[in-house]
Amino acid sequence: MSTGFYDFADQLTQLNQQGLYRQRRVIDGPQGILLQVDGRQVVNFCSNDYLGLANHPEVVAGFKQAADRYGVGSGSAHLICGHSSAHHALEEELAAFTGRARALLFSTGYMANLGVISALVGRNDSVLEDRLNHASLLDGGLLSRAQFKRFRHLDSLDLQAQLLAHTQRTLIVSDGVFSMDGDLADLPALAKLAQQHQAGLLIDDAHGFGVLGHKGGGIVEHFGLAVDEVPILMGTLGKAFGTFGAFVAGSDDLIEILIQKARSYVFTTALPAAVAEATRISLRLLQTETWRREKLQSLIARFRAGAQQQGLQLMNSFTAIQPVLVGDSRQAVSVSQALMRQGFWVSAIRPPTVPSGTARLRVTFSAEHDMQHVDALLEALGKVMA
Ligand SMILES: *Cc1c(COP(=O)(O)O)cnc(C)c1O
Repeated sequence: MSTGFYDFADQLTQLNQQGLYRQRRVIDGPQGILLQVDGRQVVNFCSNDYLGLANHPEVVAGFKQAADRYGVGSGSAHLICGHSSAHHALEEELAAFTGRARALLFSTGYMANLGVISALVGRNDSVLEDRLNHASLLDGGLLSRAQFKRFRHLDSLDLQAQLLAHTQRTLIVSDGVFSMDGDLADLPALAKLAQQHQAGLLIDDAHGFGVLGHKGGGIVEHFGLAVDEVPILMGTLGKAFGTFGAFVAGSDDLIEILIQKARSYVFTTALPAAVAEATRISLRLLQTETWRREKLQSLIARFRAGAQQQGLQLMNSFTAIQPVLVGDSRQAVSVSQALMRQGFWVSAIRPPTVPSGTARLRVTFSAEHDMQHVDALLEALGKVMA
């Protein structure tokens, strides 16, 4: 082991040997079902563009028109002079969409989660998080300096025991749809426990909005919960919305306190107004084009039936995230590479993103896929997993 600060070679070698080395691939052209990679066309089964809105002509046109009107850069943070009428209109529309008094835009979901948690709890408080929460929620909990504990995945009894052991102000935090498993939080149980113990509840529904609920309202609509049962609701715009950014929706006072205290809101440049305008269009499509959700569900059903027939190990998910468990990291990588050679892009997800020994292929679907894409993927999986 060498001691020079800039001598990273040993670490890199080690990551490589463990099958944990991460590499980017360069794509050429827009997001979609077919991607150009290294001069070759492959079928995309790894994006979070679940409704196929990232390259929707109306969304693209709205973006271009707004660039003509607002330019590209937003110039500053929202609190200085970067908060445009496009941002403001989108916030009002997101508030209406979620049935909440107000919504606040953040530049990314990662930043929203860091900002919200550290604004709402501090040194004398505690944060309780599902073990499989997204990294940004876990990082937000650590950054807040509150006492930080995790409860077992989806285990409301474990959460209850921890709530009973805490006397501080407590914030309960969970993904709505878990990003690497595709399963759902037991939201009714979380809401009930939060109310019983007078704890706060923050739900990150990055993968639920647009996919769950008749109108795409996400996990809250799916379970039919009232607004006051899920008082702090966060969503991202880079997934089913097909654009970029994030929002938090809740009461007037919640939004005001975030504007005052969320450091990742205060100290960062507002996202481009043209992104906000494009998102206004995608929000409308997301709500009105219900066929996209219905098509997605039929693709998912087809995939699950076929995969089960082949004896593949699926997870308890009916969302657009359909992981196939592999276990070993190196094997997950080699299966993913073999699929790529056959023209299918499915990403291998390894620790530390998921617990060790649970490396998996994370297959994701989009409303733009067709049944024949699903069938072709199943056939390729049959070959490479055999
Ligand atoms: C993607 C994701 C985020 C981060 O959102 P970005 O806008 O990509 O930064 C946060 N939480 C969950 C659950 C996510 O899946």
